Amino acid sequence: MSFFEAEDPLFSTFVLGNAPLKTLAGGFDWVEGPVWFGDHDCLLFSDIPNNRILRWSPTLGMSTFREPANFSNGNTRDREGRLVTCEHGTRRVTRTEHDGSITVIADRYEGKRLNSPNDVVVASDGAVWFTDPHYGIASDYEGTRAEQELPCNVYRVDPLSGEIRAVLTDFQGPNGLAFSPDETRLYVADTGRMFSSDPRHIRVFDVGKGWSLTGGDVFHVVGPGCADGMRVDAAGNLWTSAGDGVHCIAPDGRRLGKILVPETVSNICFGGRHGHRLFITASTSLYAVSLAIRGAVRTSR
Ligand code: MG
Repeated sequence: MSFFEAEDPLFSTFVLGNAPLKTLAGGFDWVEGPVWFGDHDCLLFSDIPNNRILRWSPTLGMSTFREPANFSNGNTRDREGRLVTCEHGTRRVTRTEHDGSITVIADRYEGKRLNSPNDVVVASDGAVWFTDPHYGIASDYEGTRAEQELPCNVYRVDPLSGEIRAVLTDFQGPNGLAFSPDETRLYVADTGRMFSSDPRHIRVFDVGKGWSLTGGDVFHVVGPGCADGMRVDAAGNLWTSAGDGVHCIAPDGRRLGKILVPETVSNICFGGRHGHRLFITASTSLYAVSLAIRGAVRTSR
């Protein structure tokens, strides 16, 4: 039985009939935050409870990139190729410079500590956008239990001034986020589990002049499970994690199909030689599958 499940004929054009869903590595506790470094031919990803960032290479296999890693979660690259990381343990977003030193991008808002930055993207102007739910301070499993000082907001850090601004303030648990290829849209997942209203949807915002956001309607309700990490392909389809694997959502909000994965998927990213390989962090394992479509060039892979 195929692990591809097409719900629209279009989905069949995105997948390869003979490409395997490969388990690249396993034995982790809970992995998230994959980011592809084509210049190093490797993928970095976080094993959050084990407080480390791991590296997988098609030629060298597994190694440790950073340990301890301040209970890192989401990772991406900025427009200069530098690693940008969300850290639960230190409740901050950091950038790893080309010389290996670490710069703090954001750790406070209006004098209060961030909760536990979860996922991050860098826009074409170099601004860093990140979500700040409280998951990483709700227990000692993926960080350190602590008092929540701020609501669960989405923030933008200005590339020139470094100013941090709350741009979305009406989320329960903002999680994954992604821009459309032309950056006219911003998708943000709201995830449930710890809230009475238990949101399990992705909202879409129109990005206007000066990066202002309007709209915010529910774009797609994810099920089973909820959306965590998301990436956009070159045609503008949104690929999101879900309870039974990875779901592909058309720009009009329709689900086109699924990649069924044996474990609960957290995050995904496009990578590989041509940006056509989808890397999937799922519970205790790292998976990958080659697709017939590439990731959007602008997205932070
Ligand atoms: Mg997340």
